[in-house]
Amino acid sequence: MNNFNTKTKEIKEGEFIKNLLQIKDKNITIEETHREIIKNNQKYFVFKGTLTYKPKKCECCGCLNKGYTVVKNGFNELTRINLLKISGIPAYLELRKQRFKCKTCNKKFVATTSFVDKYCSISKNVKFSIMSDLADTLSFKQIAKMNNVSVNTVIRTLYKCKSHVDILNYNTLPEYLCFDELKFTKDSKNGMSFIFLDALTHEIIDIVDGRTEYILNNYFSRFSKEARSNVKAICIDIYTPYMKLIRNKFPNAEIVIDRFHIIQNVNRELNRTRVKLMNIYKKQKGINYTLLKNNWKLILEDESNVTHGRFFFNRSFRSLVTRRDILDYLLGLDCIFKASYERVQDIRYAIRYRNELEFKELIEKSTIDLSDGVSKAINTMRKDKEYMLNSVRYSISNGSLEGINNKIKVLKRVSYGYNSFYNFRLRILVVSRLFVSEYKNNISFKGVLKNAKQHCIA
Ligand SMILES: [Zn+2]
Repeated sequence: MNNFNTKTKEIKEGEFIKNLLQIKDKNITIEETHREIIKNNQKYFVFKGTLTYKPKKCECCGCLNKGYTVVKNGFNELTRINLLKISGIPAYLELRKQRFKCKTCNKKFVATTSFVDKYCSISKNVKFSIMSDLADTLSFKQIAKMNNVSVNTVIRTLYKCKSHVDILNYNTLPEYLCFDELKFTKDSKNGMSFIFLDALTHEIIDIVDGRTEYILNNYFSRFSKEARSNVKAICIDIYTPYMKLIRNKFPNAEIVIDRFHIIQNVNRELNRTRVKLMNIYKKQKGINYTLLKNNWKLILEDESNVTHGRFFFNRSFRSLVTRRDILDYLLGLDCIFKASYERVQDIRYAIRYRNELEFKELIEKSTIDLSDGVSKAINTMRKDKEYMLNSVRYSISNGSLEGINNKIKVLKRVSYGYNSFYNFRLRILVVSRLFVSEYKNNISFKGVLKNAKQHCIA
């Protein structure tokens, strides 16, 4: 191992087990031996420890411990505390907690430690471990099994992250936002849920159950007028309620249609044009039907990628051809198809190189020689021309949602569908925070976890 970014610490002989169990509290002493218990064919490690110290004050009346006003008063019953697994084997700590008696108020109290919360039998190390597992695409059941706790404990720990991911301040919003929708849980009233994120940091801000104008208007009314006025641009898909919402609630925001969405739209129409043409040739003899059927990918590919590169044998042509040969042949079949193909490719090119003038021209140009589908798509674009042009003026897009969307799909699959919108929303927010930190790479995984830990302790 190289020594770059490596810290080494020698552990003293007596502190071996304590270090292994990652117990940082100096007031806890652990016995050097441990037991192995086999219960229902499952092996457990059991460690024994004692918690004792000289208290500074009485925890009941608060008077300072001067001259033995607070004395030791035996031990409480053993508390059994869940530890992290050791070599894959579940482990427990049987902790004897010192009991104290205050001579001033005559009351008794028990020693406390940072290792485990009061009245709790799960160590904080286990809770942190659950938290970091929650940020992964694992089901509650898997996390429970990995950490040797119940599913309810996992859900309770998830709720502890709530304060970390919930919006606490409705007086600020980022300057650039992305709006999108997601298919969510079964109990979601409207099937689709609304999700919005900071366009620059890619952090999910919140998820709303439903995406109708009424629901979203209500939701964004929570934010102060100043917060909403602060938003400069919002990236959306072509969806009229969003446009209405933005004009209503975000007075200074420009509407930016997601450029990937535009490309997707024209691509889909181009593909439909191909299918229509293909069906014309279906009943005729010849190679046209097969060629159109097999080369759908070629049509949707970037034209600049389709070159006279490698020759290969094609069974329809019964000769050596290049991909470009096939493309040229297909475009030669029909002049409407060819014109549609070229317009779609030009639009894609203009968007990719953010050429506003060219993009504008392509939208405004007559669509008379194009297929019905493609011309319809372009006519729709003409209607909201300014919003479309914003897609090349601004650099924001909904592309970053792709990654988190994939994680959500995996999460839904591993948990066999979430039933509660509320649980799933919380889970996604937790996952997204960690996903974003990996994505951006400037906050370490550990950094975010540390943050979560602090919130958990607070
Ligand atoms: Zn007291």
